Amino acid sequence: MPTFQNYLKGIKAEIDENLPADVKAVVDSPNGTTVIDIREQSEYVQGYIPGATWIPRGHLESRIEDAVPDREASIYLYCAGGTRSALSARSLRELGYTHVKSMAGGFGAWKRSGYAFDTPVVLNAEQEIRYSRHTMLPEVGVKGQIKLLESKVLCIGAGGLGSPSSVYLAAAGIGTLGIIDDDVVDASNLQRQIIHSTDRVGVAKVDSAKQTLNGLNPDVDVKTYQTRLTSENVMDIFGGYQVIVDGTDNFQTRYLVNDAALKLGIPVVHASIFRFEGQLTVFPGEGGPCYRCLYPEPPPPDEAPSCAEAGVLGVLPGVMGVLQATEAIKILLNKPNTLAGRLLMYDALGTKFRELKLRADPECPTCSEGVDRSKIELIDYAQFCRAN
Ligand SMILES: [Zn+2]
Repeated sequence: MPTFQNYLKGIKAEIDENLPADVKAVVDSPNGTTVIDIREQSEYVQGYIPGATWIPRGHLESRIEDAVPDREASIYLYCAGGTRSALSARSLRELGYTHVKSMAGGFGAWKRSGYAFDTPVVLNAEQEIRYSRHTMLPEVGVKGQIKLLESKVLCIGAGGLGSPSSVYLAAAGIGTLGIIDDDVVDASNLQRQIIHSTDRVGVAKVDSAKQTLNGLNPDVDVKTYQTRLTSENVMDIFGGYQVIVDGTDNFQTRYLVNDAALKLGIPVVHASIFRFEGQLTVFPGEGGPCYRCLYPEPPPPDEAPSCAEAGVLGVLPGVMGVLQATEAIKILLNKPNTLAGRLLMYDALGTKFRELKLRADPECPTCSEGVDRSKIELIDYAQFCRAN
């Protein structure tokens, strides 16, 4: 029976080793070599070689094919001192990887050489528990959760759509959540605006929303804007946000949101509700189709909808707002297949979802090719509803 030292010596004789200087050369000028940190999380969080992929040793064999599908690709492994990476190099060789090297001396030698290292952003112990149902999804993972925690989303309106969308976005751990609304909570809101509560009637909606959102998740920095969006303030308010969730209930704000978002290149998750029916789509930040491709101009005053409040089934904005939050999270996680270019229609009474293709209008004044979007003029449309 060999001693561990003899066993290790045997393995080191079999595998290829390299020096921190060799790894440094690849970090400085990447050549397709994948540098893999195989240490445990408690070690990794202390610092890692810039650009390294982190796969703890216990998962290396099961995850290597996703990380490096090509078995002839060059792989540099490192651990803390060069022992575990030597053992792992042999495992990868057994898996058919032909160009694997283990960094002699490990991360300790890297640091002693005076080379720079990065410190990862990681979830703290409470966040690990809070977001565990996200992090166990490979499509989200710790990386995705950290991305969400670093994300900035603006919800327009803290009403029927803004209630469910902002509550779910806060629960998901969106790091910065902006809420804009100039209204106060009214008793007639409570049939659907579940972010508010009976004891907050008369309170500014943004303040009531902040209270609910922070009560749910203290990780979220809730920024409130108790104002109405205008051509004067929209660029300042939108700047810095990555996704806009439009829960506004009027046409004039939708045009303003569309035009300002296109100017800034921010995607908009749009929804609208009427009685028992909802509509939903995504207007991509980088171009069409946009809201003006759907409705090029505001309707003439005599065709505009009445200003009188229309009835709406209370749960309908719940369905549509949750779908908005879903699309926003997909955009933040760079998932393909958002609703961009598709209009989803929900009929609550018939329990039917329908989908229409939404094409970019080649003549669209705001998103068509050749339009200089930085020059889009923002318009404050008058309240164009028909007197009733
Ligand atoms: Zn357009």
